[in-house]
Amino acid sequence: MLPEEIVTKKAELINYGMIRIPPEITLPYYPSRSSAGPGAGSRAMVFSFSGTRIKLGIVRDKPAIYTLALKDNRYYNILKHGEPYLDNVTIEPTVMHAPGQAFINITNECIYNCSFCVTPNLDRDDRHKKCTVERWGELILAQANNRNLECVAITSGVKVSPHKTVLDMVNIIKTVRTQLPEIPIGVEPYLTAQEDIDILFEAGATEIKLNLETPTRELFSKVCQGMDYDGIKHALKYAVAHFGPNRVCSNIIIGLGETDEEVLTAVEDLAKDGVVATLRALRINEINMPKLKDALGFEPGPVEPERLLNLARKHKEILDKYDLSTLEFQTMCHKCKSCDIVPQQDL
Ligand code: SF4
Repeated sequence: MLPEEIVTKKAELINYGMIRIPPEITLPYYPSRSSAGPGAGSRAMVFSFSGTRIKLGIVRDKPAIYTLALKDNRYYNILKHGEPYLDNVTIEPTVMHAPGQAFINITNECIYNCSFCVTPNLDRDDRHKKCTVERWGELILAQANNRNLECVAITSGVKVSPHKTVLDMVNIIKTVRTQLPEIPIGVEPYLTAQEDIDILFEAGATEIKLNLETPTRELFSKVCQGMDYDGIKHALKYAVAHFGPNRVCSNIIIGLGETDEEVLTAVEDLAKDGVVATLRALRINEINMPKLKDALGFEPGPVEPERLLNLARKHKEILDKYDLSTLEFQTMCHKCKSCDIVPQQDL
């Protein structure tokens, strides 16, 4: 658990989402440029402090509220408006996308068009154009001797169909298992068919994330048109029967106009089924704002830190009540902690 002051600062940094690293500071690692997740499309780095992490977009030559300052050979400080804010910060290397994780996104292309998601709008750079499923398997295995590698995770847009994406994931899992038979592997597909869960489990996936995205069916139908809310809920329940509790999780995005009561009801419904939610603050940018405004009928804003902290505290109570633990997860976001206030770890 983090001291109150530190977890509040993490929530404030999540709310702002970026940091300035002055040009005179030489970056110790290449920034990651993720094609999925909250900071998709921007250059970002992971910062560690007090046993937690945060992934922030970085700017070098533009002003920002938060600035990184060099403290000594090992540590940095984060300044807010030029004043000391966080002490003893380190920059963490990522393996692929996240610290300790070879977390890949098979494709940016997607037949759906969720309003909050920027992934299909990103430049389809050569890496994604040319990266076949076989090549992704090779790229993960190229990290097999990386001493930082702790787990593998696979997400993807839905290029052809949910089933075809699942088959691509199975292909990659089988490749990974040839050289890394024990490594935890997390998968994050969109699916609703029970047989797709069966084949991912049988191929050797360890954990699964099936994103409900919103706490209510009504909101889902506005922002994820063409996808099946009840199908995801049924799939989550079925997944727990296979993978077990503390191995199935689901993102719920905060900031789309839902109430706290709706969020907590959804979190508790999931917990009753053995599913651990990830409450994720909406990230807004010039790509998703027009889509969000069209879908919701208003312009959403960043999630206030107090709201995020309040929801995380209540989320923790629910997980404790149903004997669930974010600490048990071995892959993906509960393990990484870079983008959310993680109950039972951050507070
Ligand atoms: S918390 Fe999840 S989305 Fe964020 S960097 Fe880590 S693995 Fe990626």
